[in-house]
Amino acid sequence: MTQAALDNAPYPHRHLLGIEGLSPQEITYLLDRAETYVGRNRQTDNKKSVLRGRTLINLFFEASTRTRTSFELAGKRLGGDVINMSVATSAVKKGETVIDTAMTLNAMHADVLVVRHSESGAVKLLSEKVNCAVINAGDGSHEHPTQALLDALTIRRRTGGISGLLVAICGDIAHSRVARSNIHLLTTMGARVRLVAPKTLLPAEAERLGVEVFHDMNAGLAGCDIVMMLRLQTERMHGAFFPSLREYFHFFGLDYSKLANAKPDALIMHPGPMNRGVEIDSEVADDIGRSAIREQVEMGVAVRMACLEALAQPAGEGDGG
Ligand code: ASP
Repeated sequence: MTQAALDNAPYPHRHLLGIEGLSPQEITYLLDRAETYVGRNRQTDNKKSVLRGRTLINLFFEASTRTRTSFELAGKRLGGDVINMSVATSAVKKGETVIDTAMTLNAMHADVLVVRHSESGAVKLLSEKVNCAVINAGDGSHEHPTQALLDALTIRRRTGGISGLLVAICGDIAHSRVARSNIHLLTTMGARVRLVAPKTLLPAEAERLGVEVFHDMNAGLAGCDIVMMLRLQTERMHGAFFPSLREYFHFFGLDYSKLANAKPDALIMHPGPMNRGVEIDSEVADDIGRSAIREQVEMGVAVRMACLEALAQPAGEGDGG
């Protein structure tokens, strides 16, 4: 996209590296575009040609099920060519650096790189070295912007809007890129956010993020509209953060008794993958009346289509059938 086209675009950025810094209008634009894809994805003939002739490369240095698959589906439904680089079988295993890998892919004229990496900041670094658009599919404990957007779309569809809602984000906040992106998005869109976690699983900067902090689930969930649970990210933990999984579940796992403190119709969310019986009770997770966990996955495809369309497409050329 040329600079002039970018300046006039409703999403005027070359990349999607995080939610921090996006305006309410830009977030709303992406959610509105995603909304148009939700209905279309439920039809059999759901293919568009917005990305015809464009190449999307999924470059995942960390494991993923939902995110990688939904970017692949999103790219294909928009008519693009999608390549999945499996780092396990690539030159990265032979010691190639992230930048060298990116430069190699750049030389093949990819249009969009979707990147996941275990180091916070690695995706931004990579975006500075390539010519194509880059989407952050999760970098360390920093940001996971498309997760926050799909969470927002799920919430908006269920409640009608985000502004004024009381949202509790619970569990392993310290290691969670999902929490960070959601805090930025929800506060930007006018929701009130509570973080509920043991002291050891809260980031040092928690108080500066414009949120309220609780160390007790019953108090933290009181009166909430949305209860967002997080996975315990043991792969990012070096040391002991809580005495045992059993004790963690006892104090911080979501079960019906703790949930009773939230509003009677409070929505239950989890980005997946879930540790059943650790951060969430299985029955609560599968409660079709209360849990939006499966819907979150469905919204993921629509949101990723909207993001790909916004990045790979000059303004005004978005309606290719
Ligand atoms: N799938 C999300 C992520 O990649 C959440 C998680 O892994 O717990 O960050």
